[in-house]
Amino acid sequence: MSYTACMPELPEVETIRRTIEPLVLGKTILEIRLLDTSIAQGTPERVRGEPVGTTITAVNRRGKHLILMLDNGKGLALHLRMTGSVLLEPPTHNPRVRAELLLSDDVRLYFNDMRRLGVMELIDDLDARMEKMGPEPLSDEFTTEALQSRLARHRIPIKAALLDQHIIAGIGNMYADEALFLSRLHPTTPAAELSLEQVARLWTALREVLTLAIANQGASIDTYVLPSGERGTAYDCFNVAHKKGAPCPRCGTPLERLMVRKRGAYYCPVCQRPDKPQNSEA
Ligand SMILES: [Zn+2]
Repeated sequence: MSYTACMPELPEVETIRRTIEPLVLGKTILEIRLLDTSIAQGTPERVRGEPVGTTITAVNRRGKHLILMLDNGKGLALHLRMTGSVLLEPPTHNPRVRAELLLSDDVRLYFNDMRRLGVMELIDDLDARMEKMGPEPLSDEFTTEALQSRLARHRIPIKAALLDQHIIAGIGNMYADEALFLSRLHPTTPAAELSLEQVARLWTALREVLTLAIANQGASIDTYVLPSGERGTAYDCFNVAHKKGAPCPRCGTPLERLMVRKRGAYYCPVCQRPDKPQNSEA
């Protein structure tokens, strides 16, 4: 396998959230058209029926889920999975619209999804539904200590731990690789073996890569685009993700890719050595 698809992660979904919230806030849902009913989690009748007539009170994000909050207390959640995007106009590129939301004041949202893996779900009790998900990495509750205590319970490779949505929410392949590079950790290091100092570095790196990526409106490497159809430029700031063979920005060694639990991991074999104790500053 030479190619890894890049699914939208926290920065991409957060970018969509920030873009559409001012446009849909206070709007009433007039109709939900499911052009592909397999998008509905639960029955299509419920997903397209119950929200009609409700008003959108907020647009939230939890992990990689985008959630339209409805005035009946329920949430209409979208999970973009591999290739989903939310658009304000019908797509001209790779069109495969699976659902359309018609809102008051002539606002429309199109859910485009080439590989048809995305899901739309009406959730009655959001807190209960999201309870098992790990903390949001940009929230106040996500402290170094919180990260340390969560990682300490897992002997799996740190790369796999970062991807586990029960340990920490919203991180996927790209930002895990970027954070591990910044914190100089080898992707296969067992999560539970990280020192407090290494965890602290990882914590800082996670916040840094996510914040920077949001500022650049996400990474349009694969099918992800902004609701306007424009591209997010976060990829321009990447150090290692999807850059196999390119020189390491820190030491010049060609970057490599290895498989960690069936997922590709891009890293620098010199800056991210597996066994050597890591120095605090290069
Ligand atoms: Zn290097």
